Parts: sequence; C-alpha cells; structure tokens
Amino acid sequence: MVLANPTGTMTAQAANSDSWSTADSAALYGIDRWGDPYFSVGPRGHVIVQPRGERGGSLDLVELVKELQGRDLSLPQLIRFDDILEDRLERLHAAFERAITQYGYAGRYQGVFPVKCNQQRHVVEQLVESGRRWHFGLEAGSKAELLIALSLLDDPEALLICNGYKDIRYIETAILARRLGRRPVLVIEQADEVERIISASRELGAAPYIGIRARLSTRSTGRWGSSVGERAKFGLSIPDLLATVEALRQAGLLEDLRLLHFHVGSQINDIAVLKDALQEAGQIYVELTRLGAPMGYLDVGGGLGIDYDGSRTATAASTNYSLQNYANDVVATIRECCEPHGVTVPTLVSESGRAIASHFSVLVFDVLGAGALPGAVPAAAEQEPLILRNLRDTHAGLMALADDDAQLPERLQEAWNDALKFKEDALAAFRLGYLSLPQRAVAEQLTWACCQAIAARLQRMPTDTALPEEIQALPAALAGTYYANLSVFRSAPDTWAIDQLFPILPIHRLGEKPARLGSFADLTCDSDGKFARFIDPVGRSGRGQAKPLLELHALRPGEPYWIGLFLGGAYQEVMGNLHNLFGSTNAVHIRLGESGRYRIDHVVRGDTNAEVLQAMEHDPQLLLERLRLASEAAIGRGSLAIGDARRLMAHLRASLEQTTYLQDGSGETAAL
Ligand SMILES: *Cc1c(COP(=O)(O)O)cnc(C)c1O
Repeated sequence: MVLANPTGTMTAQAANSDSWSTADSAALYGIDRWGDPYFSVGPRGHVIVQPRGERGGSLDLVELVKELQGRDLSLPQLIRFDDILEDRLERLHAAFERAITQYGYAGRYQGVFPVKCNQQRHVVEQLVESGRRWHFGLEAGSKAELLIALSLLDDPEALLICNGYKDIRYIETAILARRLGRRPVLVIEQADEVERIISASRELGAAPYIGIRARLSTRSTGRWGSSVGERAKFGLSIPDLLATVEALRQAGLLEDLRLLHFHVGSQINDIAVLKDALQEAGQIYVELTRLGAPMGYLDVGGGLGIDYDGSRTATAASTNYSLQNYANDVVATIRECCEPHGVTVPTLVSESGRAIASHFSVLVFDVLGAGALPGAVPAAAEQEPLILRNLRDTHAGLMALADDDAQLPERLQEAWNDALKFKEDALAAFRLGYLSLPQRAVAEQLTWACCQAIAARLQRMPTDTALPEEIQALPAALAGTYYANLSVFRSAPDTWAIDQLFPILPIHRLGEKPARLGSFADLTCDSDGKFARFIDPVGRSGRGQAKPLLELHALRPGEPYWIGLFLGGAYQEVMGNLHNLFGSTNAVHIRLGESGRYRIDHVVRGDTNAEVLQAMEHDPQLLLERLRLASEAAIGRGSLAIGDARRLMAHLRASLEQTTYLQDGSGETAAL
C-alpha cells in the first residue's frame, strides 16, 4: 500500500467546513497572488475589484453583475475595466522610468501596443487616450490593423510600428502617413521587402522611417520558442541584414534606417532567454550604427509575460520575473552594450500586448446545472439479492466507523475494496441475467453512496493524515460536470488551442467551503468545449502545475452560481470563433467615478442569432419565410394546428433577435 501525504485538494483544505473563511478561498484560488492588486475576496465572500490598484476605490463584482442584469445585459458578460488598462500602462511606464533612473540610462522609453492583441475599437481608443501623456503608440501587423492604427493614433510623436507582410499598397500607405504627420516605422521582416520599399520611395519621392527585424540565434523556451532562432518565420538573418543595409545605402535610404526590432515570442517564461536576446540585439544595434545608419530606436518586441497562476516559476502559465525585473534587464543590458563602444543609447521601444491587456477584462458566466453522481441510498426492496445486501452492509459499516478510530485509513481502504468487489459481482450477475436493470441501478447507487461516505469522512480528518493513494483519489471520482453558459471557442479559445491556463473561480460564496470538485462543460456540442485544467496555487503536484478539477460549491436550486474567468483580456475575445454559432457575449466598459460609484462608458451588445446567421451568408428573413411555407403546408395537411404554427413562428422570430446564449431562468441554476 502506497502512503502519500495529501495536500491541496478539498480533503486538505480545512479539517471541517465551519472553519472556512474568505482567506481560505483567496489562498485556494490563488487570487491573492495572480489577482494582486486588482482582485481580492471581500468580507461577504464576493470578488472585489480595485480597478485602480493601490490608488483606491473598489467595487463588488457580484453587485455589478446584478446591476448589469437589471439593465437587460444577460450573462455571459465580458466586463472591461478601463481603469485597469490605464493602470497597467502606468505600471509599465513607471517600471521603465525607475530602471532608467537607477541605471543612469541616457535615453528614454516609448512603448507601443500591438493591436493584434485586442483590436476592439473601444479598447484601442482607450489605450491611445490613456497613453497620450507618454506618446504611447501602436503596432500593426496587417493592412486592416494599419488602418485602425493610422486613424486612431493622432499623436504626431507616437510611434506606429508596421510589422507583418507588406505589399506595395501597405508600404505606400506608410510612406504617405509620414507625410500626414504621423510617425510610421516600416519594419523590414523579409529580405524581399527592401526592394519594394526602395521602389515605392522612388515612386513617391518620399521615404518612410525604416526598421529592421533581426532573426536572433537566441534559443527560446516555452510555447513560442519557435518564433526565434535561425528557422523563425520572421526577421532577417545576419547575411540578409547586411545585404539590406547595403541596398538601403545604395538607394540613398540609409538615413531613414532608425530602428532595430526583435521579438522573442509571447509569454517569455524565463528571464534568462530575454537577457540573451537583449545582448545579441544590443550588439547588432551597435554594429548597425557602425555601418552608418543613424538608428535611434531599439524595439524589444513583445513577450513580457503574465503570472497566470501566481507561482512565479518559469513554467508555461507563469514567469520567473516581475515587470520591474524585465524593465531593469532591458535598460541595463542595452546600456552595457552601447557604452563601451561610445554609441548613444537608443530610445527603448517595447510591444507588450499580453502584459497590458490581460488584466482588464473579466468574463462572468453562469452555471446552468451540474451533473453529479447519485449519492442517496435507495430504499431496500423485500427479498434483495445477496450482492445488494452486501453493498448495503458495506455502506452501513462505513457510516458506523468512529472518527477517532486509530485504524481509520486502513478501514476506509478495506471498505472501498469490498464495495468495488461487490459492484463487480453485480455487473457480472447482470451480464448473466441474474440481476434486473433496476437492481443494477441500486448496486451502482450504493457504490457511489460508499464513495461519498468515504469522501465525507476524509473532509473531517486532519490534513496531515497519511492516506492510501486510492482513497485520496476518491473525491475526484465524485467530481461533477458543471454546465457553463458560454462557448470556450468564443470566449477562451487558447484554453482549447494551446492549453492556456486562466484563473477561474466562483465570484461569490467564497466564505463557504467549496465542498465539491468539478470541471466545466460549455454549450457547444464539441467534446473539447470544456475547462478541465485549472491553476493549482497550493497544489500537491508542485508549483506551476495544473490540476484537472476545481473546488466548487454544490448548486442550490433556484440560486445562480456565477463563475469568473480572469486575465483573459489579451487575444481571447479577438481570436474566439463562431463554433456552433455562439457569437460575441455582451460587453461593457466600466470606469470608477469620482464618488466611488462606477460608470458604464460603453455597452457592446453580444451578437444576436440573426447576426451570426448572416455571418455565414444566411438570410434570416428567408429562413423564416421557408419555415412559414412549411408550416402552411403542415396546416394544410392537418398535422399542425394554426395556434401551434403561430407559436413556432413567434419562437423563431424572437430567437433571431436574442443573443446566442441561454437566457431562461435568468441565471438560476437547475437543481442538482
Ligand atoms: C504578438 C506580437 C507582439 C505581442 O506579444 P505579447 O507577448 O502579447 O506582448 C509584439 N510584437 C510582435 C511582432 C508580435 O508578433
């Protein structure tokens, strides 16, 4: 028998549920780690949002959701806290300012936001507005993003970094934008782009600001490791880089080469990777000035990571550095590269997307119901077969065990072995025709009742009790599926596509012990439509690991159960898709007002069914008309009553105008 020390799961959280506090919930879900300083647990067991961080002001997320529902904004809701977006910008700039002072850096920092991270109009507008005081700019990776950046970025000093594949029209647009009084930098990412830039400049008699993206040899780790290194998709190899400089010189455009760019990939987990890249890029920068380019900017790309699980480790859902560590390393390393060569230090540019946009949006969804295993003990029939009586005796024996029995772990194991054996017997008897279907059902119910009796017992045991592994795993076997009113593919696609972890937790009842284990299934009919990996801040699998089940509360009939998905503001909503035709959710922009009250700046209604149908080229009116004709025919045949036909058409018409999510019961859960 293997003995292991249980930690982490519900068995270990507290010796008994009466002693559960909101602080226990904060620790269990790690909110005091990844949520700091924006999210915490309040005394009422609700998630509290401090949109301005330590600068004061807070609101109760549960009350907010209720009030939004009162405005007919049903769940799921995406709540965007624009104050958080602004606070993240401030933190980024403050970190670079501190580093610049600390290392006596003779240059400055001027960042841009990569639009691909969240192209939503209100989000980009808010960033441009909040970033004005730092001349914060934008980065575009396609023509459509360039259009957004050009029209929204009206600060002549802010940088507009133009990345991605570029055809002549893209290039000419950037050149003309410089004439317009903007500051676009065309970053050469592919060797053949330089020829197009040269010919477009001749054609227009004007040149753009030019940047070069270097393909570094630095090896990265983690998910995006392949976006650097010699085989990366973007960036010039050193021979290509030299050839490009030569081509620019011959075309008389070397004067316009101002920026060196590199990008190590998103979510850099390990700061050592960044340091190597910075050193390599710093040396290339120095060499470019030696080749006669005026330069002036070094763009360190994106990659600044988020500590999704609060573990501070170099694992996929975390980082082993802070924002300040990051800024310090950028500033110090580049200074170290330039100073010995007497090269003026560049203005430092970063393209941090994830680090700016992750925190500000919270997705709140409701649970429609939960599938749980039956735990009740069925009444005994007369003349019950021996197999069933054996199971009943096992259950009764379990219930009779004393809490202070010194041999308790062994006795639980023994009882569980018995229960499993009797259940096997019951199945064999059923296969041979000796047990009826209702009798087999009783056998299964009794087995689950034994399992629950053991799980309940485990909860009362001291947390340091050594337990057989099989017994430890029992609560997980009892885990339920919580049916979530959302589409994973629409609202958190990275959980499906790349196993990304986001903090997920109930936003209320946090003063109450979450006595169940569960995972979530979404509304799509896709078996991948689920959340079944969770951050594990206090886990037994070690820091930075994921767990397959989340501690949740038992549903109460008629009461809503609301879950929040946090840190999903970057990439998720814009990469989400229409799988099963679930469209965008309702979204609101919240600002904290002077009085401590919040203000709703924008309401963006979720897609209606009519809108998602149109996105697939269907004409909703035509669909209705076809069904009207079909119901006329059915009325004619006498198979459909006129009143029923009217009811059917009314349902269809109403559905077209509604969002694609479930609305019945206004978020109340079904009984277990
Ligand atoms: C995606 C991307 C970014 C943003 O990366 P984050 O990790 O979100 O900061 C920045 N620059 C380039 C070139 C990118 O492709």
